[in-house]
Amino acid sequence: MENKKLLSYLDELLIPWQFKDYCPNGLQVEGKSQVQKVVTGVTASQALIDAAIDINADAILVHHGYFWKGESAVVTGMKRNRLKALLENDINLYAYHLPLDAHPEFGNNAQLAKLLGIQGNEPLERGNANSVVRHGRILNGISLSDFSHRVEQQLHRKPLVEASGPDVIHSVAWCTGGGQSYIELAASNNIDLFITGEASEQTIHTAREMGIHFISAGHHATERYGAKALGEHLAAELELEVHFIDIPNPV
Ligand SMILES: [Zn+2]
Repeated sequence: MENKKLLSYLDELLIPWQFKDYCPNGLQVEGKSQVQKVVTGVTASQALIDAAIDINADAILVHHGYFWKGESAVVTGMKRNRLKALLENDINLYAYHLPLDAHPEFGNNAQLAKLLGIQGNEPLERGNANSVVRHGRILNGISLSDFSHRVEQQLHRKPLVEASGPDVIHSVAWCTGGGQSYIELAASNNIDLFITGEASEQTIHTAREMGIHFISAGHHATERYGAKALGEHLAAELELEVHFIDIPNPV
């Protein structure tokens, strides 16, 4: 299909204009006009680009693209290498950041809730339906050790766990990626457990002093599933050939 048609399809699905984001969403680097083979992944790193070149992909679709607010605007070094590889190989780069966290079906948050057996997916920030921090419930409750085990099984990575909440977990709030600063909002809403990708030193003190369990399950690990689910949808709906390529990252 035409690269611009794929862009319209993705924009209509993910509605990027509803978000105040830190990067441009949509087609970030334009390549060839016809797209058939698409690589999906978490981050448009050099390793992902190289993997896409190896299989002759026409496009890459990621959660973490380029041109972040505050980054240097010059095209040198690592940025030059990545852009050179994309442009020389005529590969389109599509990137959706917050819209791909928040989508109710293909979003990172929705996909993580599904993987972890969390019921419900409501915004935790009042008056913001697109909030990237969500909350839901565990039917009949679960212990922290059982839930941590589930996280490890599903995400294939041992999480960092701080036990500071109740014996039985009923309510859970979560935000994929680097959402650790939302722990206070979760605790002040009497949530039993907060899960995100990353942790900061002060996150642990907040968990202890506000009495909430905390799990840091990995930025990469919690954000694998949005791009993957979206790619599967594109393969089914648009008859594109889609390959999800996981470039492991311990953070
Ligand atoms: Zn992220």
